[in-house]
Amino acid sequence: MTTPTSGTTLGRDLTLGILGGGQLAQMLALAAIPLGVRVTVLEPDPQAPARLCARHLHAPYTDPAGLDELAACDAVTLEFENIPVEALAALEGRVPVRPAGSLLARSKHRAREKQALRDAGATTAPFEIIEAEGDLNGALERVGGRGILKTSELGYDGKGQARVNTDAEARAAWAELGRVPCVLEGFVPFEREVSLAVARTPSGQVAFGPLVENVHRGGILRTSVYPAHVPDGTAARARELARAVADAWNLEGLITLEFFVLPGGDLLVNEVAPRVHNSGHLTQDGGGISQFEAQVRAVLGLPLSDWAPLHPTAMLNVVGVDGPDGQPLEPDWAAIDAVSGTRVHLYHKAHRHGRKVGHVNLVAPDAPQLRANLARLEALIP
Ligand code: AMP
Repeated sequence: MTTPTSGTTLGRDLTLGILGGGQLAQMLALAAIPLGVRVTVLEPDPQAPARLCARHLHAPYTDPAGLDELAACDAVTLEFENIPVEALAALEGRVPVRPAGSLLARSKHRAREKQALRDAGATTAPFEIIEAEGDLNGALERVGGRGILKTSELGYDGKGQARVNTDAEARAAWAELGRVPCVLEGFVPFEREVSLAVARTPSGQVAFGPLVENVHRGGILRTSVYPAHVPDGTAARARELARAVADAWNLEGLITLEFFVLPGGDLLVNEVAPRVHNSGHLTQDGGGISQFEAQVRAVLGLPLSDWAPLHPTAMLNVVGVDGPDGQPLEPDWAAIDAVSGTRVHLYHKAHRHGRKVGHVNLVAPDAPQLRANLARLEALIP
């Protein structure tokens, strides 16, 4: 256990401000309450999921009165990277902001993030920065002949990116993406995708979450499974890389690294989320503390050690899907509930095609049972 470094201790009434009021803020607030922590969120969306379990300041992220309220908390964190850096700048010096605005500025911009990952000693896919038409000349060949063009900012869940196999496709994709600054990444023939969260306290002590294996569908996370099926040494290597990034970036708080696992087990870092991550939702139900509690503890400087499920655990996302007739396809909730070891988590969001509206966690006594029940759940969730 690390020791608290600020004036915050367990057992005292504490307050946490969160920039953003989506489902991550909802789940952070749910984890904060048993620790004696009350949460205030600043979020312009009147229907924000966190409104149900936190005080909701219904205002823009840069609203001076809203920021004053957050500045009165014991610490401030974020649940969403597309927060204007000015909002964090307005808070810095008044209240501990974790992660800091400098880290956010890096992780919300792909090109800067990739460079900062390399500076920290991590390997990434080959990439070229595309800011003008001329930057595309020879770029695809330099990244290996096949690539993915991604907008540097505001991309998420596979949005703002396109696969390209020829120079002509790269040029068309850049025009399609609005000729905004992009990164052209070499296509990585990965064997698997995994992720790992790392938390670092204000005094520099580091704790890790579990290594989780992820499968995407249409650019959106479909399933996460713990433990990840990776060669010996991969989990330790992921922790080493996460520690190097956390130290180099002077992290205070929690970040999540997404990795590609290459044949043979080497790891490339794909990207970093400056917060809890969809792949860590399974920690809510596997026993042990959750990623949400870990972020709350790290941000408030409360004691924290490594966290991981105590049992094999999986998560399946529930994403809005429209059927061929344009009507929403509903998961079979009664059947889902009947699969042993399931826990349903809903975000109280209106249906929209491609929108994450909830997830189902699944715990099993052993890995084969987990796989079998996960396959049953997959058939019940469109
Ligand atoms: P991202 O928005 O960067 O997380 O990308 C979304 C998903 O697209 C990743 O989780 C991968 O499944 C896939 N992907 C992204 N970048 C690459 C790459 N360079 N090579 C192969 N697949 C990729």
